[in-house]
This record gives sequence, structure tokens and C-alpha cells, in this order.
Amino acid sequence: MKKLLNAVSTFVPEMLGGLVALNPGLSLLGNSAIVVRSDARAVAEQGLVALISGGGSGHEPAHGGYVGPGLLTAAVAGEVFTSPSTDAVLDAIRAVAGPGGVLLIVKNYTGDRLNFGLAAEIARAEGIAVDMVVVADDVALSATGAHAGRRGLAGTIFVHKLAGAAAAAGKSLAEVAAIARAAAGDLGTMGIALSACTVPAVGKPGFQLAEGEVEWGLGIHGEAGVERGDLRPADATAGRLLARIIADLSLQVGDRVALLVNNLGGTPASELSIVAGAAVQYLQKHGLAVERAWAGGFLTALDMAGCSLSLLKVNDERLALLDAPAQATAWPSHLGHLGGALVIAPEDPRPVAASAGNLSPQSALYRGISAVCAVLIEAEGVLTDMDQVVGDGDLGVSLSRAAHAIQNELNGYPTEDQPGAVLRSLSATVRRVVGGTSGPLYAILLLRAAMSLGDSAKPSAQAWAQAFAAAVAGVREVGGAGPGDRTMLDALIPAAETFAALAGAPGAFDPASLGRVAAAAAEGAERTAAMAPRVGRSSYVGDRVIGHKDPGAEAVALWLRALISAVTAGS
Ligand code: ADP
Ligand code: MG
Repeated sequence: MKKLLNAVSTFVPEMLGGLVALNPGLSLLGNSAIVVRSDARAVAEQGLVALISGGGSGHEPAHGGYVGPGLLTAAVAGEVFTSPSTDAVLDAIRAVAGPGGVLLIVKNYTGDRLNFGLAAEIARAEGIAVDMVVVADDVALSATGAHAGRRGLAGTIFVHKLAGAAAAAGKSLAEVAAIARAAAGDLGTMGIALSACTVPAVGKPGFQLAEGEVEWGLGIHGEAGVERGDLRPADATAGRLLARIIADLSLQVGDRVALLVNNLGGTPASELSIVAGAAVQYLQKHGLAVERAWAGGFLTALDMAGCSLSLLKVNDERLALLDAPAQATAWPSHLGHLGGALVIAPEDPRPVAASAGNLSPQSALYRGISAVCAVLIEAEGVLTDMDQVVGDGDLGVSLSRAAHAIQNELNGYPTEDQPGAVLRSLSATVRRVVGGTSGPLYAILLLRAAMSLGDSAKPSAQAWAQAFAAAVAGVREVGGAGPGDRTMLDALIPAAETFAALAGAPGAFDPASLGRVAAAAAEGAERTAAMAPRVGRSSYVGDRVIGHKDPGAEAVALWLRALISAVTAGS
């Protein structure tokens, strides 16, 4: 287990201490695990209904994060995944109760129902008006069956919000309870787990999933779901979860819903957004009006990877309650309105191919470019692995993406008697499809070579050598690196120098000698293994890279060898 904590025994109090330390509107009740609004007494004296929720910890930001104006008055936290004690709930009730009474919002777990229920009964005997609403929004379990009842899941947050707004508006305990109860009946949630979570006191994940395996229909306490299955694309995943909820709530075309896309704790925001987009599309395609939607970590299961989707049937009254102002750390500040579907497409500035014809597949230039593309695509995996050791692993994908784009556009490039224009087109393709560091560097490499060739129809070996030198100088100038910095330049510079020496030697140029240019690049790439990185991402990992070749230099060695053997073949 790897967790940022001090001791398992202080996990809950220290977690709550941190929450309260950063929020002047929140306080801890005595030395307890009860988070209350700092102004709870004043609110109670106004006669407003007080709202209390809670349950085991591990679901952060629930429930302390929902304490604040327009939401909960107090949240009672138990140990991780363990209901708080009856007395803790009773302390919370006594602390926040006023003439308006108290509503308890409880997720349907036996322990929570017992402790909150018993506390309510004792408080009532003390003369406090208390009502309790149990939320059981889990649609993965049958409505009735051989289980402890449907569990309370992330949809509970909707109940907090609706009841919180109703209480803040001065509605009576009976009215607030009725709103909460009705909402709980119009609510469905189902989730998927990509990995189990690790309870601090246990120290290891609750279950193991193989690569590509998921759990459908899980709870929020680290238990497995109702069914193990294969991971599907995000669209299909969202569809399956929603189909179940829609069927369970008997939603009809035209029904209005609010959507909650909930991170179970270990899912990157990017993936959650993908699911959120897919969910909205699915609902709209099935004729439902998505009136509000939120995505985020609302009710988690520690570090479990995965998400749950919740749907709440809404009408104007519920929308007004969802829209009512609320201030709690975990309730989003935006209203959850859907954005427009408009995607603004940038204008495509690509010039139309010159009418003078296109690069002939029989030309040496075409053969050379094709060979470079083929080798870069083939080397994707090797370059990825190499870049993972020294950098971030994107080089293989970047270069193969460039190669695929070039393959697609090659037939539209200018003719072989305009090699400068062909290189300019190559540069434009690379510039458009590759980002990162190597993208712009290759774009400048090709552009400077193009500029050096000018409109020469059949450049001499000397002109090609000059163009290569100019290209390498461009990379040095733009990238700011030099020889020995452990970059692609350590392959490019010796290759360019070798080519210049061969082309400048007296006598006719022998194309067969180009093999020495490729060899110079390969030797240069070899030497990078002993070099300390000073630029690029490798510089962040420092001496760890010693012994590994620079992937950018290796890529140069690979494509240069392929290029040279393709253009010299048959010449
Ligand atoms: P990043 O991951 O940093 O965006 P890429 O993975 O696209 O970069 O490219 C990494 C390669 O770029 C390195 O292996 C190195 O050869 C080369 N490189 C990095 N910085 C420079 C630089 N300043 N000049 C020349 N080449 C560089
Ligand atoms: Mg990289």
C-alpha cells in the first residue's frame, strides 16, 4: 500500500481536520468526526430545517464536502467504509436541531440505517423533530431480492442538493422530507470499476482484475460488482450503464433528467469527460432531455478506478432546487447546463496541389520518402520503448503519425523536378500532424532543406549536401542544442559532415559512398548512450538515461539508412 497518510488510526480525523482547516464556514463538533456549518446554531434559530447526512469515510468529498449553505448542515463520518456510531449521529442531531427539526439523509446500508435510525428515535424521545430518508439508488441490484436491499450510491448527492435547497427556502420538515423521498424514488445509479480500491486498514486492494477486465454494478465500499466482464469502449460503457437506469426508472421519450457522472476516485478527469460526453449523447439519442449534467468526484470509493452514472427525473420544481444557490466545497459552482454541440472547425489552409502534376511513384524521391515512412511505422514500438526510458514515450507515435500522414498525402506532392517544393510539402505535413519536440524540429529541418534547394530541378550531390547542412543548422538554431547534448543532432551532425566531405571531394560523386553517411548517423546515435542529457525531457531524468541511446538520434539513424538505400537502389 502506498498512501499519503501518517497512521491508519488517524486517517479520518486528519482528513476532516484538513477539510475544516481550509474552510472557514466549516467546524468540527468538539473532538469528533462531525463536520458542521460554523453558523449552524444561527441557522437553527431561524427555524430552518437542519440536514444531516454521513456514513463511512472513504467517499470523499462526501459527505463533509457537502456541508454548507444550501446543502447539508452537518455530516457524520465513520471509520473508512464503517457507519458512524449511534451516539455520533445523536451528537450531530443535538448540535444542529432547532425549532425547524432535523432531516437525516441516509444511504441504504444496514449499519447506517440502524445507527441513524436509533439516533433519530432517541432524539425524538428528547423532543426533537427528526425524520429520516433512506436513499437506495443502486439499479444494479434487483429492486427486491436476496440481498440487503439496493445500496445508496452517488445519486444521494442529488437528494442532498434538492433537500438542501428546500430547507434553505424555509420549507417545513414534512415538505423537505417529502421532496427528498420523492427524489430518492426517481433516482437510479450504476457504476463500473476498472480496479479495486485499497482500504488503509487492510493495506491491499479488495479484489484483483486482470488486464481488460471490469466489474459492473458495484457498490462504493470496495466490494466487487454484480458481474465481471470485459472492458468496452467508453461509449458502450456509458450506454450499458444508462440503459439499465433508463429501464429501471421506466424513463420514456421526452422525459427530463439530470445526469451525474461520478468519479469513483481513481479515474483521470480526461476519461471522466469522455464518459460524460458519451452519456449525454446516449441520452439525447434516446429521446431524453438532459436538463442538467455534472461530472466530477462526488461520492468516491477511495482510489477505485471507474465511474458511476446517476439519473434523476426532473421537472421545473426540481430544476429550481438544483439551480438554487449552494456553497459547499464539493458542489460545483456552475449550474450544469449543457453546452452547444457546435465544434468550430478551423479553416484548412492547405494549398491545392499545383496543377503541374504530382510526384511520380517511379521517382527516386518518391521511393526514398516511402522507405522513410515504412521504417518509421515499423519502428514505432522500438522508439516508444526507448523514449519511455528517457522521456515520455511519445516519440514512436509522433513519428509514425507523421509517416502515415505523409503516405496519405504523398501522391499529391509536387513533381520530382521540384524537390525543394516536395520537401516544403513534407514540412507542412509534419508541422500539421506532429506536435511535441520532434514535430517542429523535423518541420524546420525539411523547410531549411527546401529553402536551400530553391527551385533547382535536379540538384547536384553538392547541392543536396548543402541542403542537408542547412537543415541541420536549422535544427540547431531553433532547438538550441549542440553536439554532445544527446539529441537527434548527435546523429544528424556527423551525417551532414560526412555527406559534405564526400560531396566536396575531388572527382565524380559516387552514390554508393552514401552508405558512409548512414553509418556516421548510426555511430552518432550509438555515442548518445554515454552522453548526459542537457536538453529535452531526458534532462529531467538525468543520469538514469546513461547506457540508453537517445531515441531521437536512433530515429535519425533508421530513416537515413532507409532513405539512402532506397534512393541508391537501381542507381
Ligand atoms: P517530447 O516528448 O519532449 O515532446 P519527442 O518525443 O517528440 O519530444 O522527441 C524527443 C527527441 O527530440 C529526443 O530524443 C531528442 O533527440 C530530440 N530533442 C529534444 N530536444 C531537442 C533539441 N533541443 N534539439 C534537437 N533535438 C531535440
Ligand atoms: Mg517524447
